[in-house]
This record gives sequence, C-alpha cells and structure tokens, in this order.
Amino acid sequence: MRVSLVYRDELAAYDFGPAHPLRPERFTGAVALMRQHGLIGEGAMAVVEPQPAAEEDLLRVHDATYIAAVHEAGRDPRAFVPGHGIGPGDNPAFAGMHEAAALVCGAAVSAFQEVLEDRCDRALSLAGGLHHAHRDRAAGFCIYNDPAVGIAWALERYPDLRIASIDIDAHHADGVQEAFWDEPRVLTASIHESGRYLFPGTGFADERGGPHAQGSALNIPLEPYTGDAEYRNAFDSTIALAVRTFRPNLIVTQNGADALADDPLTSLGLTLSGYRDLVTRLAALSDELTGGRMVAFGGGGYAWREAVPRAWTILAMSLMECAVPNELTAER
Ligand SMILES: [Zn+2]
Repeated sequence: MRVSLVYRDELAAYDFGPAHPLRPERFTGAVALMRQHGLIGEGAMAVVEPQPAAEEDLLRVHDATYIAAVHEAGRDPRAFVPGHGIGPGDNPAFAGMHEAAALVCGAAVSAFQEVLEDRCDRALSLAGGLHHAHRDRAAGFCIYNDPAVGIAWALERYPDLRIASIDIDAHHADGVQEAFWDEPRVLTASIHESGRYLFPGTGFADERGGPHAQGSALNIPLEPYTGDAEYRNAFDSTIALAVRTFRPNLIVTQNGADALADDPLTSLGLTLSGYRDLVTRLAALSDELTGGRMVAFGGGGYAWREAVPRAWTILAMSLMECAVPNELTAER
C-alpha cells in the first residue's frame, strides 16, 4: 500500500491554549512515535505538506458570515464578542484561529487529492477529523469541519464518487452527518458513546438521513464501558454490512482515540488491541470494496501523552498493512 502522511509542523498552531483538553501533542507525539518505528520516509509513508484551504473550499460547508467571524476572532481574540460558538468554554478565540483551522482543512483537501489523483492508495491527516463544526458555528473544539470540506471538494471534482464515511471517535459525528444529511452519495456511519450521556447529545439510531437520502446516515450509540468484543460485534454485524450494501468507491475514516478506556473525557472501554482490531477491519473493508482507497483522519483523544500516540501509530501500521508489534498494544 502506498500511504501518504499529510503533515507539517504548523498544524500544531491549532491550539486553544495550555488549559484546553484538545492538545496538539496528540498528533505531534504520534508523528514522533511513527518516526521511532521507521514509518515515515523512504520505503514507508511519504510526507505531503498541505497548504491552507481556499475560501471557496470552506464555503461549500460553512457560511460566509461564520468564516468572517472566525477571521475576526483570530485577529483580536480579547476584543471578540462571543458568538457563532466561539467564546469562553469549549471553543475560545485564539490568535490566528482562521489560519490554523484553514490549514487543517487544506490537509483534508490534500489527502483527498493525493488518493483521487492516484499518488497514493491511502492518505492520513492526523490533525483533522474535526467532526463537530457546523455550517455557522464552532462546536466541540472544532472550528471548521475538515472532513466535510474534504468530502465536498471531492464530490465536486469527482461527481461519480460514492463515499462511505465511518467515524469511530467516542463522540457522534454530528457535523459530518449534518453536512451530508440529504446527500445520497455519502453514507455517514458513526459509532459512539450514546448522546444520553455524552456531547453532542445526538447520534441515535432513528437518525437515518434526509428525504432524498434515506438510510444514508447510520448511528450506533453505545452504553458507557462498552468494550472490545461489543465494538467488534457492532462493526461486523452493522457497519460492515451497511457499507457493503452502499457500495462505496472511496472510504473515509475518522479514527478518534477517545473511546479508549483511559480517556479522561469519555466512559467507553476500548483497549489498544481493540482499537487495532477496528482500524484493521476498516483497512480490510477498503481492500474489499474500494481497491484499498481510503482517506483517514485523526480526531479526538485526550489521553494525549501516551495512549493517543500509540493508537495512531497502530492506525498508520494498519493503513500500511504491516504487523503491529505487541509492545504497542500491551497495557502499561
Ligand atoms: Zn471525540
């Protein structure tokens, strides 16, 4: 498998500050661990440096008034009057926030471009997967919805695409579901801790897609402490079947590592070997259905010192289809 890592150090500028739980170290630490394991460079993953997304790419998913507000918040964070979900709390204003969020979206566009222009089979954007951002507001640490921006870009360039977007982050992929709610060319599947207990409070089984796309949304809400066996069962009995029935020609995954048992913000019970089983199944599904073509994102993950870098190193190995050493999945 030819795998590209879409990455540059400037992606770490997406940072709400030292007291905020979403740390850029979740992916900078992962990239460092991948280097230690020889996964980056000659004979391994090629690095593709992204550019910021153009305004027209953002406008497929977000309103102009919202983008203008993000610009304003980033120009003078202290003077910004809270609005559009930006303000004290989950999504505080920070200097340069438009530029930082637009670079994450540019990485998503690059990832799709690399795969669809056949420069690689799989592309990985670890800084992305910001799946909660809505058309006109920030939410859940997400300013712009980079997976949606990438998918919308791809659909415009390649109208015959059928995209299955599969999200294993602990939180419901509400923003991506909303962006493609009535779009029959996109299946959005999300497996997450139930909205009865966890942000954003949506993602129930009766959310199935809009009038022109019935069945194009699939949600699997889980009870707290759900572990590896139940995850595997849900994947095999529901997600894999739905994706096969949909017949995608491209698979997109959001691989948030916050469903791990030691994540401080959620209450699920996945182990690193359970996470490995899931991402391996996702890669196998793309081998089966899309000739291996896949765009993979990071996402959430708040045990950022150790668990998330290990999970995403395992993810990279699964995309490359190389064996995962036991030391990475063993509990410490
Ligand atoms: Zn999450």
